[in-house]
Amino acid sequence: MEYNEKTFKAFPPNAVTMIGIPSDENSSFMRGSALAPPKIREVLRCGAANLYSELGVNIDNETLFCDCGDLNLEEGKKGFEQIESGIIQLLKQGGQVLSLGGDHAVTYPIIKAFSHIHQKLTILQFDAHSDTYDEYEGNRLSHASPFARIMEEKLASRLIQVGIRTLTDHIRDQVKRFGIEVVEARNFDPGIDLKLTGPLYISLDLDVLDPGFVPGVSHHEPGGLTVRDVVNLIHGIKVPIVGADIVEFNPGRDVSDMTAMVAAKFIKELAGKMIQQKHPGSAAIIS
Ligand code: MN
Ligand code: MN
Repeated sequence: MEYNEKTFKAFPPNAVTMIGIPSDENSSFMRGSALAPPKIREVLRCGAANLYSELGVNIDNETLFCDCGDLNLEEGKKGFEQIESGIIQLLKQGGQVLSLGGDHAVTYPIIKAFSHIHQKLTILQFDAHSDTYDEYEGNRLSHASPFARIMEEKLASRLIQVGIRTLTDHIRDQVKRFGIEVVEARNFDPGIDLKLTGPLYISLDLDVLDPGFVPGVSHHEPGGLTVRDVVNLIHGIKVPIVGADIVEFNPGRDVSDMTAMVAAKFIKELAGKMIQQKHPGSAAIIS
């Protein structure tokens, strides 16, 4: 499904728009996440599950949730510019944007786009890794570095990282330097109050989860969170969510579409939450 400017202009304003960003050229260890968006879409609509969020919002509703297809990207710097301008166009329609990676490098140009529209952004990053290397193997745009670029350029006022379990001396220095709030996996409590502020952007690297839930990621990092931990944290958010991404799904490593199904689940719960915030009447009354 290719991104089609003519089609998305017809989308209703204030919908959640979903866009695929098939980029994995900045992955350090293993490529393959560029193939994620079509695979996630296929599983989302495969008929194994309905399209209701647990919050009672049905995302099978084109006035509330629109799939804009995948960006058609060139390599290198140009590709990052295309991501930034594509996201800006969607944001200008007034809705929230849900991006499907790709590797985590794509979050840097995405946040650049958000910074044009939303001031004082708080980012909630779910990840096994901090992704704040100054550079990784000579690449400053590596998927190990997007949050170093974001914080250097002051594109967000707060960065809260949850599920981290790979800190090195260099990363500890970076965390201190940028004032990042880190909740390590070893200290994670499902009832944690993250004291979130809005507008909020959620960046969800699937490797935050224990690899037992998501075998289809490039970096297996044991000792992670459960799907339930993350879903409940999302449901509990009280500040406005302006956008989100789901990154690092690598279909080539998946087992029986398990990881694709987790990504599809997060689409339903993230989009459902964002829709519920903007259109309270769209959700069933649940307690
Ligand atoms: Mn990451
Ligand atoms: Mn990660």
